[in-house]
Amino acid sequence: METKEFKAESKRLLDMMINSIYTHREIFLRELISNASDAIDKIYYKALSDESLTFDKDQYYIKIEADKANRTLKIIDTGIGMTKEELENHLGTIAKSGSHAFKSENELKDGYDIIGQFGVGFYSAFMVADVVTVISKALGSEQAYKWESSGADGYTISPCEKESVGTEIILKLKENTEDENYDEYLEEYRLKSIIKKYSDFIRYPIKMDLTKSRKKPESEDEYEEYQEEETINSMVPIWRKNKSELTDEDYNNFYAEKHYGFDKPLKSIHISVDGAVRYNAILYIPEKIPFDYYSPEYEKGLELYSSGVLIMNKCADLLPDYFSFVKGMVDSEDLSLNISREMLQHDRQLKLIAKNISKKIKSELISLLKNDREKYDEFYKGFGRQLKFGVYSDYGSHKEELKDLLMFYSSKEKKLITLDEYVSRMPEGQKYIYYATGDTNERIEKLPQTELVADKGYEILYFTDDIDEFAIKMLMSYKEKEFRNVASGDIGIEADEKEKVTAEEEEENKELFEFMKNLLSGKVKDVRISKRLKSHPVCLTADGDVSIEMEKVLNMMPNNQNVKADKVLEINVHHDVFTSLKAAFENDKDKLALYTHLLYNQALLIEGLPIEDPVEFTNDICKIMM
Ligand code: ADP
Repeated sequence: METKEFKAESKRLLDMMINSIYTHREIFLRELISNASDAIDKIYYKALSDESLTFDKDQYYIKIEADKANRTLKIIDTGIGMTKEELENHLGTIAKSGSHAFKSENELKDGYDIIGQFGVGFYSAFMVADVVTVISKALGSEQAYKWESSGADGYTISPCEKESVGTEIILKLKENTEDENYDEYLEEYRLKSIIKKYSDFIRYPIKMDLTKSRKKPESEDEYEEYQEEETINSMVPIWRKNKSELTDEDYNNFYAEKHYGFDKPLKSIHISVDGAVRYNAILYIPEKIPFDYYSPEYEKGLELYSSGVLIMNKCADLLPDYFSFVKGMVDSEDLSLNISREMLQHDRQLKLIAKNISKKIKSELISLLKNDREKYDEFYKGFGRQLKFGVYSDYGSHKEELKDLLMFYSSKEKKLITLDEYVSRMPEGQKYIYYATGDTNERIEKLPQTELVADKGYEILYFTDDIDEFAIKMLMSYKEKEFRNVASGDIGIEADEKEKVTAEEEEENKELFEFMKNLLSGKVKDVRISKRLKSHPVCLTADGDVSIEMEKVLNMMPNNQNVKADKVLEINVHHDVFTSLKAAFENDKDKLALYTHLLYNQALLIEGLPIEDPVEFTNDICKIMM
């Protein structure tokens, strides 16, 4: 017998399992049954390509045996089994397992989340058992092995006897405590209800051995009723069932069972199509963004089944990038089981399914938006960014499809609104859809550039996401209304009579502005009289296509091309500060230089841009204070 330690990360997870405060201990059974079913699937695949193996469905099953006298629960399967190495590699370390994508210490801190987020597979056995024994004989090997562990101390492994290929897991249940009753996992009704709840659609029979959980009949009469075995699950996969037979809870359980997410799904979509291409699909829009969603590690895709047999875990071709948050599965009779990945990409049927699914997701989102705004808001907070990326990417080729799903924060409503809502209440005479950019809504609210537009009573959309303005530039217009940054050169609004800047004023101050422009050469393209400022003395705007916000974003990119916005310093000539500027221009050019730099730096600060020389700036302020 060999005694070994668990790998470090496994040990930590084990500790968490053993001391888990997790409320759904019962899921251990779901996990073990799902492993058993996978193991049978593996034999099935082998049988497909290996003629020496026959796949006789009746031969393959999962059996649950509760033994009250010994307080053990057995989960037996006739799957592919594990070799000695596999026992060590698969049960001795967690990192091997595909679904346990641990990234850092941080994510391991909170046991609760980990369990929920990943599903912990085999290790969940330790939530209910003190000792876990696995007896397994792998397909093609002569020798069976026994793996045994009582938790964090490690495990032992030794050769043993087992007649047939497959795996037997024996759980020695924990002793009851004040808060926890482990005996319930020996009760027939309890086990049945857990199996029904989580594993009803497992494709192999889950049989329950009743000989040890029930008393033997004493009379002939009773014997009629007495069965030694009973199949608990209906074996019809959830996606083949009628929508009317299914409840939200069924869909939620399937989501958890499949480890699609650690949350509850926000919405489930059940599709059954019997047309040019036949398929069933169950799709989910998650409630919370997966922790790695906006990282390159995130892999989109749906599970793909061919007539009930899983052929691919994450078929990326089924989902466009902008719907990459969707989880779920597709089962089609029209796909060949042996289709290769490369072939699949060009498969006409698959393309049809993908197109169909995309349409369906969009229409479901639209209906969510119309009928359950609160939920849509929640969805949008998590995944709206991805939709905006979708508008921008591929040269805008999906913008038509996505534009109605977009929302932005409104200056008037103080919440997210759709573009349709914006346009439908635009007053007559308003030419453009206005937006302003900044780090937060609070900051944008205070931007001087918004003054005139807001004063006019026009609604302004606040762009706080770095993708926002890029997406909108790609969209160009919505319902024939163009978008306009409130800080762009021409905002299409005439100022009121008294605030109008006259031609004389322009002419009169030409030299002053020329002088200021020279002082700021290299920093701004122009210094101008503002036609949008009302109470503020100064602001920065941009001519041309690249806004100041876009410059910020582009320069943060790794392949920074040093893109520059054509910045313009706008001065409010109706502000008292301007009188001082004029006086200084006539009497004291040094003072004018000081003022000009101060105003420029103020404009930078308002814009959320760094000032080039903070020390000089503060010295300048001191100068005017003295
Ligand atoms: P996961 O199922 O997410 O991969 P588990 O911890 O549940 O993670 O299982 C780890 C691995 O151990 C499985 O991937 C599988 O290879 C193997 N395994 C577990 N249970 C069985 C079983 N009953 N029969 C054969 N192999 C199994």
